[in-house]
Amino acid sequence: MSLLETVLSQGFDRSEPIGRDELGRFTKGVRVRCSQCEALVISGVAAHETGCPNVVRYVDCFECGCEVRADVGCDCQSFDEEAE
Ligand SMILES: [Zn+2]
Ligand SMILES: [Zn+2]
Repeated sequence: MSLLETVLSQGFDRSEPIGRDELGRFTKGVRVRCSQCEALVISGVAAHETGCPNVVRYVDCFECGCEVRADVGCDCQSFDEEAE
């Protein structure tokens, strides 16, 4: 998973890559931004402001014990696509 994919998965939905080299690779990392708060990067770790609704919570799957996103669920479970 790329750095950009990582921060997007953490709820930083406005994140974007900074700069590309001549081969189109991103060279300067990622600008971490969140649509719901003033996201911060502290010691290289992206962080939402306290209370940001985009904070991703992780829970342990009750089926297999894997740590999974609370809003996504686990691959081992099948969800009704209509479920909210
Ligand atoms: Zn946020
Ligand atoms: Zn599971």
